[in-house]
Amino acid sequence: MEFSILAESFNKMESTRKRLELTQFLVELFEKTPHDVISKIVYLIQGKLRPDFEGIELGVAEKLALRSIPKSSGIPIKKIEDEYRKSGDLGHASSIILEQKTQTTFLVEDITVERVYETLFKIAKLGGSRSQDMKMKYISSLLNDATPLEASFILKILLGTLRLGIAENTVMDALAVAFTGEKENRKKIQYAYNVSSDLGKVAETIATKGIEGIEKFEIILFNPIRPMLADRVKSEAEAIEKMGNEFAAEYKLDGERVQLHIEGDKVALFSRSLERIESYYPDIIEKIPKNIQADNIILEAEAVAINENTGEFLPFQELMHRRRKYKIEKAVTEYPISVNFFDVLYCNGKNCMESSYKERRNTLEKHVKEDEFAKYIPMSIVRNENEIEDFMENSINAGSEGLMLKMLDKPYQAGSRGSHWLKLKREYRNELGDSLDLVVIGGYFGKGRRTGNYGTLLLATYDEDEDTFPSICKVGTGFTDESLDQLYQILNPKVSIKKNPRIISEMEADVWFEPELVIEVVASEITLSPIHKAAMNAIRKDSGLALRFPKFTGKIRVEKAVEDASTNEEVITLYKGQKKIAHDKNLM
Ligand code: AMP
Repeated sequence: MEFSILAESFNKMESTRKRLELTQFLVELFEKTPHDVISKIVYLIQGKLRPDFEGIELGVAEKLALRSIPKSSGIPIKKIEDEYRKSGDLGHASSIILEQKTQTTFLVEDITVERVYETLFKIAKLGGSRSQDMKMKYISSLLNDATPLEASFILKILLGTLRLGIAENTVMDALAVAFTGEKENRKKIQYAYNVSSDLGKVAETIATKGIEGIEKFEIILFNPIRPMLADRVKSEAEAIEKMGNEFAAEYKLDGERVQLHIEGDKVALFSRSLERIESYYPDIIEKIPKNIQADNIILEAEAVAINENTGEFLPFQELMHRRRKYKIEKAVTEYPISVNFFDVLYCNGKNCMESSYKERRNTLEKHVKEDEFAKYIPMSIVRNENEIEDFMENSINAGSEGLMLKMLDKPYQAGSRGSHWLKLKREYRNELGDSLDLVVIGGYFGKGRRTGNYGTLLLATYDEDEDTFPSICKVGTGFTDESLDQLYQILNPKVSIKKNPRIISEMEADVWFEPELVIEVVASEITLSPIHKAAMNAIRKDSGLALRFPKFTGKIRVEKAVEDASTNEEVITLYKGQKKIAHDKNLM
């Protein structure tokens, strides 16, 4: 297929944001696309080469792409840089420049979608010391044969700046219309996508096998399933209203959701956003296969950091220590976890998603053996408000966030948020009962609408004993455009090249401020934190306290001296108070 067809289509799509128009452009494009190219087109539309879970990244830096243009065009790099600076978009700049191309090429090879795709694929696969040169060679060879419009889109795909604004839903609408003539078939297509997370494969199936092929679409082991999500409820009474008079309550653990695909010793782990995460959990890879009593299985679990001595669940932040490229073995010993299973989606070659919650829980308990490392998530069948509150108390005391409530007779609905699962977190009051006045110690540059301002601030308490400012949270919500501007005006003169020694923070910031300004925030909760330094060691050794979901109230307390900010003592009192409130509430 000629790449020019795709480039022209992209060009039209870039000119609109209207979903109906985009769908129509896509339908026209799909109708022109040979069936063996359709999956490639679907990936390219989304600026990808393969589904996300395969983790194939193009990873071409702007500089490299910049250097590839003159090679193919004979245009001096300076000129390209100037144009780039003007428009801020290399794809666009290159098309303007290539219009003025001085060097004519004689041996022009056709640019087809297949050729572009395969070249991009080779570039993505390249690594090692000589890879930069090779990448440049590949890019140059494509640009050499491309028209300016084609070149601009090749560059945008390469740099990851192709932003057609086409959501997966729009692609699925267009597939339904183009290949079945009926938009209603979208539901079946959606199901195929939910179980495979691979829109390219879905497109190819519908193009080659029609809706019958889609109806036969099955779970594929090692292709992640899009997770089922839960609605939120505010109270036990609301939960009962929505769920009826008998349902399951599970601990809502505060860890990382992991989807495990297992066959023999082969294990794949996917995060909630369906990325591969094996490298953070070598202990899961090593230990879990021994707990499985099935030929193959797809499971869902929450991996949670634990205190090995007490078995207590630790906050999510602890797990983040494992998100590192190097020395993962050390992190594995320092931050032990348990794997808490809560669902099974596939077992011994059979799809379990249609089975009810009750049946799935039975299957889970039959095919997964428990031990110190692998657990079933604590569950209880509840029938009234008292029973929910009772179980909530156990859950909070064990260190979890609240409860997940699940209907007993309902299937697993991949990829959707619905009322068959509800989450009930510990109730937020105002939210902590009190606001806090905190010292601004660091800033992070904003993105999008916040460019040019500090989009997020790093905040600290006042430690009266040490006369220091230990970090307690980052805050990035609650700001209006006006308050961001105002804060920028106040904070900019306070930027210091070196971190003031009174600032105690392990967190890095884009800029450090002299600790001189106090702002007011509210938050939902105070939690133990391995990263923040406020009230370090006061509650637990090697842990500080952090604010959960902090929000700026709009009050810049310019009248306050930093020594009048909330102290560690006050934060400790609030932390203890909230434990007590949760406890008392659950006893009532
Ligand atoms: P939220 O992120 O607040 O929307 O809550 C959903 C998340 O809670 C899931 O993605 C899981 O990571 C986590 N979770 C913790 N415990 C459970 C459970 N028992 N069942 C399902 N999800 C759970």
